[in-house]
Amino acid sequence: MRAVVLTGPGDCEVRDVDPPLPGPLDVVVDVERVGVCGTDVELFAGTMPYFASGHTTYPLRPGHEWCGRVSAVGEQVDRSVIGVRVTGDTMIGCGHCDRCRTGRHHVCDARSEVGIRGGLPGALAEKLCVPAGSLVRLPAGVDEVAGALAEPAGTAVRAVEEAHIGPGARVLVLGAGTIGLLVTLVAIDRGAVVEVVDHSHVALDLARSLGATGAWASIELCSGPYDAVVDASTSASLPRLALDAVEPGRRVVLVGLAGSPSMLDARELVLRDVTAVGVLGGSSGIARAVELFASGGVDPRPVVAATVGLDAVGRVLAGWRPAGCGPGPKIHVDPR
Ligand SMILES: [Zn+2]
Ligand SMILES: [Zn+2]
Repeated sequence: MRAVVLTGPGDCEVRDVDPPLPGPLDVVVDVERVGVCGTDVELFAGTMPYFASGHTTYPLRPGHEWCGRVSAVGEQVDRSVIGVRVTGDTMIGCGHCDRCRTGRHHVCDARSEVGIRGGLPGALAEKLCVPAGSLVRLPAGVDEVAGALAEPAGTAVRAVEEAHIGPGARVLVLGAGTIGLLVTLVAIDRGAVVEVVDHSHVALDLARSLGATGAWASIELCSGPYDAVVDASTSASLPRLALDAVEPGRRVVLVGLAGSPSMLDARELVLRDVTAVGVLGGSSGIARAVELFASGGVDPRPVVAATVGLDAVGRVLAGWRPAGCGPGPKIHVDPR
């Protein structure tokens, strides 16, 4: 089968590789759609922190935002799952440590991450092998575009839940990339009034079209305080400014990762009684994201700009966007 292989910083190839054989508890999925995300760009560039920590190494096979149809199962997996449309969790815990047993497998020290960490081959390929326990079923009303957005939307669902907002809450979202836009959609579905900050006017226009009532080129232009601030940016300066923008006694949710440390004055948290929360990945939010898609409460598909083939992945990772693509930040890949 054909698969994308990253062989070193800036080197991306499509290779013929052996198709996966499922282990006893695994399934093989025929991949229908895969998203390319910022983590994949960092893996391509060699800047992803897991290289320095030894959690990942070249060559590696990326792709962790996917959906497809189960085509084979391991000997201990119920065969009725064959033919079912699924997406799945990126985070694969060891299954027996205290964190895995208490619902925190996404921070298991021994975890693998599909297409990212621990040598687990990713979904930018014709077929993908993952543990059956990591699957989330897709109802018929959720198409392959939305299905491959369930993983990042799971992150957005978790971020909005951690923001502790109700109907009518004013929410500020920093960064209108895929996660920021999905946070916007999920928060609006909960009845929040959402404003967005981004330096790209294309992104701000898209955020407005998705229902954001304010779209600002700089956080200095916003008129806070807000009931919650979600930082989905990659700016090292915004987490501190998020703290300034939130109403005392409320919450700042940090989802974005900057390339350098973001400095917060912990005294500000105390003096303003603010709670700051970090969110890593979609895991427990993925099934709830699929429910939101199925109910029609959230239609994530406008975040996708274009769909390309496996041969274009290297160019996409290098920053290329197809001619005539939409305004969304996300490029999808159809590997078949
Ligand atoms: Zn991703
Ligand atoms: Zn574990």
